[in-house]
Amino acid sequence: MNQNLPAIEVMPRDLSAYRQGNVGVDFVHRFDSGVPGPHVLVNALTHGNEFCGMVAACHLLDTGVRPLRGTLTVSFANVAAYETFDPTKPFDSRQITHNFNRIWSEEWLDGTQDSVELRRARAMRAVVAQADHILDIHSTSQDVVPFWVYPAFARNARAASALASPAVHLVMPQGLGSGTPVIQHGRHGQADSNAGVALVVECGQHFKQSTADLAIHVALDFLGHFGLMDRIVSAAPAPRRFELLRTHVVAHADFRFTRPVIGFETFAKGELIAVDGEQPIHAPCDDCTLFMPTREPVVGREGVYLTRPLAD
Ligand SMILES: [Zn+2]
Repeated sequence: MNQNLPAIEVMPRDLSAYRQGNVGVDFVHRFDSGVPGPHVLVNALTHGNEFCGMVAACHLLDTGVRPLRGTLTVSFANVAAYETFDPTKPFDSRQITHNFNRIWSEEWLDGTQDSVELRRARAMRAVVAQADHILDIHSTSQDVVPFWVYPAFARNARAASALASPAVHLVMPQGLGSGTPVIQHGRHGQADSNAGVALVVECGQHFKQSTADLAIHVALDFLGHFGLMDRIVSAAPAPRRFELLRTHVVAHADFRFTRPVIGFETFAKGELIAVDGEQPIHAPCDDCTLFMPTREPVVGREGVYLTRPLAD
């Protein structure tokens, strides 16, 4: 047993009761108010071991939340990976073959490759494309403060800033740099489109109860913001915003950081952050702030996100 494993406060649940949806796609449930209004998608389990979204989606379904106006769709994405959870290897059930959150381009969706994740993304493609506003609920391997992640469109910044939490924003001017996530599929990835809001929320460490609690709160607040529910009234904090400069994808098995990191560490311009094979990774600016440093480097997966703080 690995002594470095985090405590598992939230265990996966049997989701078989949620398999039968009502739009012809497993694990997708839609509720149309019959009153004009936006179509909001709340999506869970883009990554199979990120249980907070599952808790929030179950909460919406179990408590019988119905939209006051518009349409609410609730989905569980990579249930196949979720069902492989092994508490002795709690990080392995993130995905089976492909990262479900990097394959939302036409190249991948219309391509010839096959995997559990590609099949699921193809099945869910219309579900994502039909939504006006998307909340994709995630969590982090390390125990760091919750944060938003979104393409740098004003529509996204406005919505994230209006919500009660989290207060930290990771803004992506050039997209993710390592693939196309759910929130950048189709018109949601385009600056000059009439698309609505599409946000990832990272609610905290995968297996903590507080992470699941926040996911429920954020989902309800998101629905309240768009008028599908009565708003939970709470003031939005002043955001702390960071801009994604570069996504480093691990190239060598010996990738290592120069000191232990969990995220939000800062490095001065030129300071050595990590070494990947022969390649040194230096901070490209002062106050370079790390997001989502990998716990265990895997060649071909993200090693770290380099960001800089944005002045407001
Ligand atoms: Zn995730």
